[in-house]
Amino acid sequence: MCELCTEKTSHRSIASSAASATAAATASATLRSHASPHDFPATTGQKGRKTLIKGGHVMSMDAAVGDLEIGDVLIEGSKIVQVGRSIEVHDAEVIEATGRIVMPGFIDTHHHQFETALRSFLPNGLLFDDGSKHGQPNYLEYILGKFAMVYRPEDVYISEVFGGLSQLDAGVTTVLDVSQIHHSPAHSDAVIEGMKAVGRRGVLGYFEGYGPDLKYPQDARRIRAEHFASDDQLLTMAMGGEIYLPDLDPLMLWNLGRELDLPIALHVVGSLGLQVAMDRLSDRFTSKHIFIHMTGMSDLAWQKARDAGSHISLAVPIEMSMRHGMPPILKALEMGMEPSLSVDVECTMTADFFTQMRSALTLQRALVNQAAIEGQQNIPDLLTSRDVLKFATINGAKGLHLDHKTGSLTPGKEADIILLDGQALNVAPLNNVPGAVVTLMERSNVESVLVAGQVRKWKGALVGQDIDALRSRILESRDYLFEAADLKVKLFD
Ligand SMILES: [Zn+2]
Repeated sequence: MCELCTEKTSHRSIASSAASATAAATASATLRSHASPHDFPATTGQKGRKTLIKGGHVMSMDAAVGDLEIGDVLIEGSKIVQVGRSIEVHDAEVIEATGRIVMPGFIDTHHHQFETALRSFLPNGLLFDDGSKHGQPNYLEYILGKFAMVYRPEDVYISEVFGGLSQLDAGVTTVLDVSQIHHSPAHSDAVIEGMKAVGRRGVLGYFEGYGPDLKYPQDARRIRAEHFASDDQLLTMAMGGEIYLPDLDPLMLWNLGRELDLPIALHVVGSLGLQVAMDRLSDRFTSKHIFIHMTGMSDLAWQKARDAGSHISLAVPIEMSMRHGMPPILKALEMGMEPSLSVDVECTMTADFFTQMRSALTLQRALVNQAAIEGQQNIPDLLTSRDVLKFATINGAKGLHLDHKTGSLTPGKEADIILLDGQALNVAPLNNVPGAVVTLMERSNVESVLVAGQVRKWKGALVGQDIDALRSRILESRDYLFEAADLKVKLFD
């Protein structure tokens, strides 16, 4: 029985029961969640098994591999072994990709997945109360100050699973989960179990927590040893290294990250008054640092970050909406520091990567276009669709120190691959591949998704997940969270 099947059902039983009128309703429900089981490439990703993605428009995001107007990708086990025009192989399962764009999955370098149960709670809020007329409601007070305080491990788990699957469905195959919910070791373990259940590549961002059972940050050693003893697995770890927490010395956090040989991620927000702190710490920046937002920082901090080889993660829609400051996309590019993209919080904005790419593209172009209209000299180049695709794939892999494994269709890397429907109603006729992905597509165009060679989404539906059951669980969790935080769901303002 393949992984598509539930305990009670197999491909054959679905096919035969479909003929029976009495079982038709059950069968169609099963088919909806399982999606075209008859041609599902069941052994894909298994050790020693070959899979050929055949006849797609291949956008490798690797300059050495290039683009193929029509091309094939050969996978063996979890890895890509060959990308070429027409690969002859006789012992492979074939995934027919005619009319599909074949490219690496998207990489999200900053996502607070534990907040999935709070989706759209704060569509119009700022990051914090800055004393202006716009200061209420705000994120620090409501999301971190009220909701986060009442999370139980089971709430963490279901939000991780639901948010992770939603992004996997939309073609995001790798995430840095910035989980500021480590109130106890049980909470930390729930984050990890949730990420595992999703089945995509992920980096546990070990950030703060609160309360009497808090073991942050010293529990990082246990977590590293217990869950991340090997870096050769789908899930790896990063250390939270915030510089704004009142009782935690950032250098202590950074040293702990270094001791455990982990990337160190932190929020850097100018409107929160963090400029001085960043300048003070700038001699300690390393190539393992991931600076999230990087709004409002001094030239000194930028120069030190560039010289150290640090990485910049931009959450463009959130930064624009929640008053983090202007996304520093021009500054990053001027410094030669190509950023990655990140979705941040679903309480305020979608975690969809097409939105991310379009926001980065249109913001940069708006700024440069206006400079051109005003007659300014020495204006930068305009971003292209190809540029933001790099931000959304290989740059994220580099930022997370995972570019030896993912971020491009390169022989030797893991097969984290998405198939996008280039013949869909909102896309056809296909006239430019990068342009179609960035300027036309949305999540419904993500037809199939592979992680480490394994098919996780097949022809429009996630594989082996009972979404109805998960939805019930997250609704229960949402109800508990609102009650415990003494807040009410208001469907209309
Ligand atoms: Zn954040």
